[in-house]
Amino acid sequence: MTLSRRDLLIRASAVTALAAGRPLPGFAAPELPPGNRRIKWQNWSGGQSCLPAARLAPASADELAGILASSPKPIRAVGTGHSFTALVPTDGTILSLDRLNGLIEVNHDTLEATVGAGSKLGDLGPLLEAEGQALINMPDINRQTLGGSIATSTHGTGETFGSLSTFVTGLELVTASGDTIWCDATQNADIFNAARVSLGSLGIITKIRLKNREPHRINKRTWVMPFEDMMEEAESFAKTNRNFEFYYIPFSGMCLGISHNETDEPITPRTSDDDDDGVMTLKALADYLGWSPSLREYLIKSQLEDLPDDVFVDTSWKIYPSERGVRFNEMEYHLPRENALAALREIREHVEGNNLDLFFPWEFRYVKSDNIWLSPFQGRESCSIAIHRFYEEDYRPLFAAVEPILQKHGGRPHWGKLHTLKADGFSNLYPHWNEFLDVRQSLDPTGTFLNDHLKEVFGLA
Ligand SMILES: Cc1cc2nc3c(=O)[nH]c(=O)nc-3n(C[C@H](O)[C@H](O)[C@H](O)COP(=O)(O)OP(=O)(O)OC[C@H]3O[C@@H](n4cnc5c(N)ncnc54)[C@H](O)[C@@H]3O)c2cc1C
Repeated sequence: MTLSRRDLLIRASAVTALAAGRPLPGFAAPELPPGNRRIKWQNWSGGQSCLPAARLAPASADELAGILASSPKPIRAVGTGHSFTALVPTDGTILSLDRLNGLIEVNHDTLEATVGAGSKLGDLGPLLEAEGQALINMPDINRQTLGGSIATSTHGTGETFGSLSTFVTGLELVTASGDTIWCDATQNADIFNAARVSLGSLGIITKIRLKNREPHRINKRTWVMPFEDMMEEAESFAKTNRNFEFYYIPFSGMCLGISHNETDEPITPRTSDDDDDGVMTLKALADYLGWSPSLREYLIKSQLEDLPDDVFVDTSWKIYPSERGVRFNEMEYHLPRENALAALREIREHVEGNNLDLFFPWEFRYVKSDNIWLSPFQGRESCSIAIHRFYEEDYRPLFAAVEPILQKHGGRPHWGKLHTLKADGFSNLYPHWNEFLDVRQSLDPTGTFLNDHLKEVFGLA
């Protein structure tokens, strides 16, 4: 069995959806009663599911307004179901934005483009390139819709880049009453501050105007480095690269650094994503050598230590996203930048000191501060720490062990990733919490868009 850096990073993404349908241990998926013709919905990891009364996909804002008036409540918008939290499940109506996609308007002078909210990030790459534009930054994958991504403040890495929500310069919202509202920095500015990160709680976003940039080519480099060296140098890597992030491989003492920098170099062939072995090798090492952390560390380290750097060049929208075939559940917290490396060290000491059961690499990223009301990056330069758990395993014991450390260091959870915070916790973490609640109440006084999860989050249960 071989183990390579590519295995660990790229393959860490790639055992396919064998189990998209299997409930997690301890998480009973709803079963269809006999004769019931409802169609089950479930998210990407299989950890969230429901049996909605209706599943609809309007093709226009008018059709959408009709659905909002007549369909069973609560109504929840869905993108591609890549959120791990229970943002989407409902007994009422699941509303897909799939048919509201593509380019609507392009402004070549300001480098802005208005697109349908159901557009997938991956589809935007070629569409924008044909218009001389490109997204400013991208997250790890490109399967999500733009509407779903901004609802949870989806982000990539890079100290000079905010989340995707910060690239939004205007958007159109259809509210519970069927009204269509355009908002931007000057028109309906309060709604704009709330709607750029809204958890889908204000209404259905139909169009989004994005600030873009010119198409560009990126050199991506991946390298291996001991944990202590990474702790020393991470801040300087963050300052000197366009994008920098790293993974820590638990029980190895080793990190994988990744940088992205703009380049004019020619495009190089991408090393093939051949692989399910890497992450499964880490799993096998955990399964068979879990009793001996030192032997496990020795084996992983010895296979990683001498690996040469992996470098390739491509167009930005092709190089940023990876394939994530190995299904997992995830918790990610966004911490004040000055606390984040110390938090990571503490998590490592706790997990490895107590020989906790896990094998997925942890991801550490940099995100610029913004001023969007419910953005987890609001008002502070941030670093994100993400912990993953194989989809077949119960994530709760691991996440319960790590979450207090992330919270102690001032972390705010990613809205789309698992956490246990409730309204009290959020109101302390978000200075604009009450302003957001006021806008939500005025746009949706009867709770058309409130499912059980949102009621808990907003303290309305
Ligand atoms: C493999 C994987 C990799 C990921 N990588 C990253 C990453 O690199 N960075 C990161 O930050 N996150 C990442 N995520 C999380 C993901 O980006 C977010 O959870 C995102 O919100 C998912 O988008 P979606 O289109 O699947 O939306 P869904 O998960 O379907 O919905 C998310 C929310 O958006 C709302 N919504 C969707 N469309 C609309 C609309 N048109 N109007 C109003 N509300 C709407 C929904 O109601 C819901 O509240 C990843 C997730 C997975 C599974």
